[in-house]
Amino acid sequence: MIYLDYQATTPVAPEAVKAMEPWISENFANPHSPSRWGHEAAAAIEVARKQVLEAIGLKGGKLAFTGSATEALNWALKGTAEKGPKSRNRIVTVATEHAAVRDTCEWLAGQGMDLTILPVGTDGRLDLEMLARELDERVLLVAVMLVNNEIGVLQPISEIAQMAHKAGARMLCDAVQALGRVEIAEGPDLVAVSAHKIHGPKGIGALWFREGAEPAPFIHGGGQEQGLRSGTLSPALCVGFGAAAKLASERMTKDYDHVLRLWAAATRALGPAWAINGSVKHRYFGNLNVRKDGVDGARLIADLRDVAFSLGSACASGSGRPSHVLKAIGLDYRTTRSSIRLGFGRYTTDDELIEACERISASAYRQEKLKA
Ligand code: PLP
Repeated sequence: MIYLDYQATTPVAPEAVKAMEPWISENFANPHSPSRWGHEAAAAIEVARKQVLEAIGLKGGKLAFTGSATEALNWALKGTAEKGPKSRNRIVTVATEHAAVRDTCEWLAGQGMDLTILPVGTDGRLDLEMLARELDERVLLVAVMLVNNEIGVLQPISEIAQMAHKAGARMLCDAVQALGRVEIAEGPDLVAVSAHKIHGPKGIGALWFREGAEPAPFIHGGGQEQGLRSGTLSPALCVGFGAAAKLASERMTKDYDHVLRLWAAATRALGPAWAINGSVKHRYFGNLNVRKDGVDGARLIADLRDVAFSLGSACASGSGRPSHVLKAIGLDYRTTRSSIRLGFGRYTTDDELIEACERISASAYRQEKLKA
């Protein structure tokens, strides 16, 4: 199989698997229990916490582990809304956010919050002047992601955070697709990340928060994670996340140069008939979302069963919903259907990527011939 779905999930790094093993087989203690084994597990979790904090790279702040980034984002939004002053009853977000933010914001709107969803340009970027016009003393939180999961476009989160702060609001950044891939700029008050997007295990995420910006607890129980997120932590998952984060920090430049070269090779192999969705200038290059008029993306996927790639967002696929991100950048339903997303990274080789692109082109050509 040629795996080109790095935005959906990434292959688990052998280093992360190795680091996790003892915490599944040898030491299975509850990290919150007072035995020596419990203390050892708790200490391993603290090392992992430090490794994830270092990979996020922001000054100060704290980190609480969660079961996923979806949970971290739900917690950040709902817990901030619960804690915020009554006079600030508005959330501002963007049309291209992940469902974990968008649907949670919609849920909060159903509970009485005011919600403003800002459009993006055809390049996928938020217009900062438009944002400035929306920011006033009623805004509690501005939620904007750093790297888009569908089209790879970057948003200027540092400027957005500064603008939010000027209006007395907080800023939440979904950095799930950014961690270990691009630098997370200073500014956000809350940052959500996920292990399985950085070659770590599934089932663990985290919320970073600036001190004082911690949301009200969302999951109640045993008081773990500084009383903010109850539930027994899994040492194996935390340690796997930490090992993956350490590796991502050490290899960030190398991995980035690798995807930059792969991007150039893939766009060359596909050729100019494929148009790129989203800004080319402001992007993470491990995400190539392209379209070709008249081609049916779902048929390409069905035809090339041993190449793993995606139609739109992997998180939304299966829902049958057309991509809200491609719609937000101005694509109509037909053009959206002719779009595919190739995601590549650390373990992708030039040869397999070029082979996949050639096979995609050949399959698209067969579709066109059949239609003619
Ligand atoms: N945010 C973005 C940008 C994502 O790409 C994803 C997953 O695809 C999530 C949030 C949710 O992450 P998790 O799978 O950890 O719940």
